[in-house]
Amino acid sequence: MTLPTHVQTLIVGGGIAGCSTAYHLSKLGRKDVLLLEQGRLTCGTTWHAAGLVGQMRPNRNMTRMSKYGIELYASLEAETGLATGWKPCGSVNVAATPERWMVLKKQAALARSFGVEVQLITPKEAGDLYPVMRTDDLHGAIWIPGDGKANPADLTMSLAKGARLGGATLLEGVEVTGVIVEQGRVAGVRTTHGEVRCEVLINCAGQWARQFGQLAGVNVPLYPAEHFYIVTDRIDGVHPMLPVMRDPDGFIYYKEEVGGLLMGGFEPVAKPWRMEPIPNSFQFQLLDEDWEQFEPLMTNAIHRTPCLETAPVKMLLNGPESFTPDGNFILGEAPELRGYFVCAGFNSAGIANSGGAGRLIAEWVVGGEAPSDLWDVDIRRFGGFSANRKALAERTGETLGLHYAMRWPRQELQTGRPLRTSPLYDLLAARGAEFGSKNGWERANYFKPTPATPRPAYGLGRPGWLDWVIDEQRATRDAVAIYDQSSFGKLLLQGRDALAVLQRLCANQIDMPVDRMVYTALLNDRGGFESDLTVIRIAAESFLIVTGSAQPVRDADWIRRHIAAEEFAVLTDVSALWSVISVMGPQARELLGRVSPDDLSPQSLKFAHTGEIDLGHARVRAARMSYVGGPGVELYVPVEMARHVYMALKEAGGDLGLKDAGYYAIDALRIEAGRRTWGAELGPDETPYEAGLMLAVKLDKGCDFIGREALLRLHDQPLRKKLLSFVLDPAAYAWGGEAIVIDGQTVGELSSVGWSPKAGSCVGLGYVRGDAAQRVHTGTPVHIDLWGEPVSATAWDLWPPRSAQSLERPGQAGTVS
Ligand SMILES: Cc1cc2nc3c(=O)[nH]c(=O)nc-3n(C[C@H](O)[C@H](O)[C@H](O)COP(=O)(O)OP(=O)(O)OC[C@H]3O[C@@H](n4cnc5c(N)ncnc54)[C@H](O)[C@@H]3O)c2cc1C
Repeated sequence: MTLPTHVQTLIVGGGIAGCSTAYHLSKLGRKDVLLLEQGRLTCGTTWHAAGLVGQMRPNRNMTRMSKYGIELYASLEAETGLATGWKPCGSVNVAATPERWMVLKKQAALARSFGVEVQLITPKEAGDLYPVMRTDDLHGAIWIPGDGKANPADLTMSLAKGARLGGATLLEGVEVTGVIVEQGRVAGVRTTHGEVRCEVLINCAGQWARQFGQLAGVNVPLYPAEHFYIVTDRIDGVHPMLPVMRDPDGFIYYKEEVGGLLMGGFEPVAKPWRMEPIPNSFQFQLLDEDWEQFEPLMTNAIHRTPCLETAPVKMLLNGPESFTPDGNFILGEAPELRGYFVCAGFNSAGIANSGGAGRLIAEWVVGGEAPSDLWDVDIRRFGGFSANRKALAERTGETLGLHYAMRWPRQELQTGRPLRTSPLYDLLAARGAEFGSKNGWERANYFKPTPATPRPAYGLGRPGWLDWVIDEQRATRDAVAIYDQSSFGKLLLQGRDALAVLQRLCANQIDMPVDRMVYTALLNDRGGFESDLTVIRIAAESFLIVTGSAQPVRDADWIRRHIAAEEFAVLTDVSALWSVISVMGPQARELLGRVSPDDLSPQSLKFAHTGEIDLGHARVRAARMSYVGGPGVELYVPVEMARHVYMALKEAGGDLGLKDAGYYAIDALRIEAGRRTWGAELGPDETPYEAGLMLAVKLDKGCDFIGREALLRLHDQPLRKKLLSFVLDPAAYAWGGEAIVIDGQTVGELSSVGWSPKAGSCVGLGYVRGDAAQRVHTGTPVHIDLWGEPVSATAWDLWPPRSAQSLERPGQAGTVS
C-alpha cells in the first residue's frame, strides 16, 4: 500500500470518533483528510458497543451536541445509502428511590430548558411503555421520546462512507508508530507503511489514545475498564421499538436486541483493565467473561425485569472501554504540541457523543479555536500530574461506578487523594478541615467542630455542614477569617514584551505602576470570557497572573499561543512556588498590624495595591483585594514560609474572633456579593455586557485588545442573556443548576447558589435568556424549579442593592476558584 507523502489533516483511529471527525472535516470543506486505522474500521471498541443513544447532558452545549448527533444519525442513511440501524424508540429512565425521583425531575426541567422533549410519567405509564418491567417499587420515571438506539458498527461505516464521499481517504491496516515534531508543531507521522507529512494530527485512538499520546509527549489521561452486558434469546413482549430503559438505582440499562434483551450497566466498583501497554493487535477482540463482577448487575436486573430469571442468556460480553478522571471525554488541541488534537475517552458514551464530538473537533481544527464553551471536555482541564497510571486505574474504577450511582450535590471523588497539598494541609486537617479536591489540590471546604466529627452525610436538602459554614461566613463579615487559597493558578510572565502581550490579551489596563494589581477579563474574538484573572505588576517587565485553581493549563496555553514569534516574553507556571493566605474581615487590618510592623492602613495600602511586608519572621507580598467582599488582604507567601505565616496569624488573632474558613464559605460569600466565577457565570460564550462585568474592561485603554472589536459591535445590541441575582424563599435550599421559570416558561438556569446569612435564605446567580433578558429586573418575581417543585424567588439586578452594600468595592474583584 502506498500512502500519500503529505496531507493537511491526518486522523489516527478508525472507530466512531475518527470516522465522525473525518466526516465532519469533509463537510467543512477539508479535502485533504487521511484517516489511518491499524486494523479494520470499528475493530477497537466501537464494534461491540451496545448502541444506546441519549440526549440528556448536564449543560446546554453538551446537550446541543448530543441533539445534533441524533439528527445526524436519523438522516445519515438517506445521505450515504448505508444503513445505521437507527431507531427512534425513545427512552424511559426510572426512579426507584425518592431522591432519584427528585434528581430526575431536576434533570427533566433542565433538559427542557435546553430544548429536549422530556415528560414526567407515573410508574404505571412507565410500565405501559416497558411491559416487561416491574414497576411496583418505582417513584416515577421520565420519558424522552427523541432518544433511540443504533447499530454502532453500521453507523460508523455509514459515517466512513459519508467521509469518503466528501473526499476523505480512509485506509486500514496502517499503524501509526511515531509523530514527527518540528519547531514545536506536528509535522507528520511515521507508520508501518512509511512517513506522511501533515499539518494537523487528530488522535482518535480510543483506549490507545493515552499511549499513542505519549509518543509525542501529549497527556491524554484515560484508562480502560472492563465493561459488560448480556444478550438474551427472544423474550415475549420485547419488540424492535421497545424503548431503551435505564434503572440507575440498579446501575443497569436495557435495549432490545433481535427480539431479546441486551442488559448492561455500571457496577459500583468497576474493574480497570490492567493491560500495559494495550497491544495494538487487540482488534475485534473481547475479554474473558467475569460473572462474579457482573453478579450485582444481574441481581438488580432480575429484580427489575423478572423475565431475565428464565430467559436463556446467549452471551456475557466483556469489552474494554476508556474512562477519564472526571467522567467527561477529552477534546481539543493539546497544550503540549501545536497542531495535535485529541478526540477520545468517551466513558461508555462514544456512540451517543461521537456524532456531535466529531463536528466540534472538526470545527475546532478548521476554526483554530473551540467553537463554543467546551470547558467540560477541554483537554486543558488536565494537568501533567493526571498522567499517573496508578491514579488513573484507581480513578477509572471509581468513575465507571459513578456513571449511574446517585450523584449528590458537592459529592467529592475519593480515589487518588490526597495528592497536591498546601504546606498548611496537616495543620488545617488537625483543626477539623473537611477537604475537597480541585485539579488535584486538596482544599478545605469547611471546618468541622473537631477532626473526629464525621462528615455529614450527602443529601439533597439543607446540608449538615451549613451551620459551620455560616459561622465561617459570619467571622468573615463581622470579625476576621483566614483562608488557604494556595491552589490558585499562578503564572509568571516576564520579558521585554510581557506588557505588550498582556495589553493585547487583557481587556483591562495592564500598563500600571509596579505593585499595582488589576482584575481583568481575557476575551476571545467573540467577546466571550476565555478567563478572568488578576494581574500584579511585580516589576517593570514581570507580571504575576493569578487565576482559578482549575485553569492554569488552559490560561497558560491561551497566553503562550498568543505570544508572537518575534516577541520576547516567557511564561512560567509558578503555582507551586507561592501559597496564598487570605485574611478577610473587618478585623483583618488589626490582626495584620499585630504581626507586621508595616503600615497596612487603607491610605498606605490602597485597594488593588500590593507591597512586600514583614510578617512574623517572613517576607510576603500583601495585596489589598477581596473576592468575598469587604475588607481584607491576600498574602502571597513563598511556600516554605506559609506554615510560619499561618502560625503567626493564628497566634495573634485568638481574641479577634479569628476563624479558619473554607471554600464553601468563599463561594457563598462571593455569590452574596454578586461576584461571578469562571466556569459558572463566566465562559467563552458570555460577554462582559451579559455578565455585567464591564468594570473588567477598558475599551479606551489606548490600545487594541482581543475581543474589543466584538464588544464595540455588541455595544448597542439587545442582550441575548443577562446575569441576575435571585433571592429564594427562606424555606428552600438549592444547589445550582435549577431552572428559572416565569409564567410556566423556563427562561434560564441558576449557575451558582449559596446560603446568605444576610438574606436569611439562599441567593443564586443565573442568566435569563431571550426576551426575559429585557423583562426581568430587580423585584421581578420568578419561580425556581427545585427538584420538580416551584419555589418563589425574586430577581435582583445585583444583590444586595448598591445602597445597602457594606462591601469594600461593588462588582468584582479577585479570583476565586
Ligand atoms: C460493553 C460496552 C458497551 C457500550 N455501550 C455503549 C452505548 O450503548 N452507547 C454509547 O454511546 N457508547 C457505548 N459504549 C462506548 C463506545 O463503544 C465507545 O465509547 C466508542 O466506541 C469509542 O470509540 P472510539 O472511536 O473513541 O474508539 P475505538 O472504537 O476503539 O477506535 C479507536 C481506533 O484507533 C485505532 N488505533 C489505535 N492506535 C492506533 C495507531 N497507533 N495507529 C492506527 N490506528 C490506531 C484502533 O485500532 C481503534 O480501531 C460501550 C462500550 C462498551 C465496551
